[in-house]
Amino acid sequence: MEDTIVAQATPVGNGGISIIRLSGEKSFDIATSIFSAKEFEKDKVTPRKLYLGKIKDETFKENCLAVYFVNPYSYTGEDVVEFQCHGGTFVSNKIIDMCIQNGARLALPGEFTKRSFINGKLSLDKAEGVIDVINAQTESEARAGFDLVNGELFKTVKSIQKRLTDMLAEIEVSLDYPEQDIEYETAESINGRLITIKDELNNLLATSKHGKIIKDGVNVVILGKPNVGKSSLMNALLSYDRAIVTEIAGTTRDTLQESYIYKDMKVNITDTAGLHESDDVVEKIGIEKAKSSINNADIILLVLDGSKELSIEDKQNLELIKGKKAFVIINKSDLEQKISVDFETINISAKNKQGIETIKEKIYETVKNDCFVQSSITLTNKRHEIAVSEAVNYITSAIDNIFDISLDCVAVDIKSAWEKLGEITGETTSEDIIDAIFSKFCLGK
Ligand code: GDP
Repeated sequence: MEDTIVAQATPVGNGGISIIRLSGEKSFDIATSIFSAKEFEKDKVTPRKLYLGKIKDETFKENCLAVYFVNPYSYTGEDVVEFQCHGGTFVSNKIIDMCIQNGARLALPGEFTKRSFINGKLSLDKAEGVIDVINAQTESEARAGFDLVNGELFKTVKSIQKRLTDMLAEIEVSLDYPEQDIEYETAESINGRLITIKDELNNLLATSKHGKIIKDGVNVVILGKPNVGKSSLMNALLSYDRAIVTEIAGTTRDTLQESYIYKDMKVNITDTAGLHESDDVVEKIGIEKAKSSINNADIILLVLDGSKELSIEDKQNLELIKGKKAFVIINKSDLEQKISVDFETINISAKNKQGIETIKEKIYETVKNDCFVQSSITLTNKRHEIAVSEAVNYITSAIDNIFDISLDCVAVDIKSAWEKLGEITGETTSEDIIDAIFSKFCLGK
């Protein structure tokens, strides 16, 4: 018998209401040993109905509501009782303690959802959608999460798996007839269908760049020699003071990363230590980090000081961004301008917060044009992307060899592609990966 588990489902802290959730075979017994309400008893209770009652404690006179969900009609697929009590640490902890004293144990992070998966209520991709909905910071992130929960990816994967299973059955049958032409006809027909599946999976993979932007945001790195106004620009983009601004060159000795949201797009902005030669050990590490963040950047903002002529360092930085997605920002437009360059620039005054919206809009438009794809499903999860790409590899291998090797060898690749897709839904996922996925959930979910 699985343990009966308990945890607070709402955030910890003071609030109007707190929900304590119990799940497992002993849920109802534990609930009745700590809570009483009229007809909240075995054989009388109506599932899914709220009961107003009292916690059974002489000094702790908490009035609260309880609801019972009978298995399998609950989130976890097990018997579940939820208490809605006064929000607050003391009351919630007291009810949890009483549940534990009566036979429950504290749930691990994600354990309710893991049970839901184990009991066949949710596939793994749908469970991952639940985390995405909870963690969503933007509407598009939430929408992608809801699509997963609602089974958009699941349906596609299942449809492809079904077609692969059909092929495996046909191969089996054709192998029972040793005539050469039957095997050839089967190979021709399967080849055509594998090509269609490969196209479908490749179309799905093509959405992952957009998916990454939805989920993780765009990585923008601010680059420039010391004192050109990088930290001031970062603060202006974030609309608050995150980075230290001083007149002393080399103030930002490490890299700083923060995010802002513009038109439903998350932008992660990194302010780098100015790239210049330095003897300071801390600054040196910062400079190395800056170089590596440039390589990982989706977009670079190279900042130049418009009130000074181009220096050797500026020229080196202009060289560094060649061939990369970058904007040249001329800062300090409020001062007399001494720079003139013969390429497109954005003129701003970070100090006076002028031109900041233009930068945000340019970043948004660039990313939108480069990465956004119209598709009913967008792959936002790296794990799903890897599984799809590995399935494509097996299907490609099957297509490449189908007319040269025996069909039972082709069947091995088709079976492997099926299994890779099964990793998305959880059918073929190993236990430790499943544990790792659920451990990322918050406590009480
Ligand atoms: P960083 O070393 O590149 O991060 O530069 P900071 O943001 O620390 O700025 C260096 C100096 O330039 C500070 O004294 C800022 O106040 C000043 N500064 C930044 N932006 C502007 C601007 O738009 N106009 C003027 N006049 N000064 C600025």
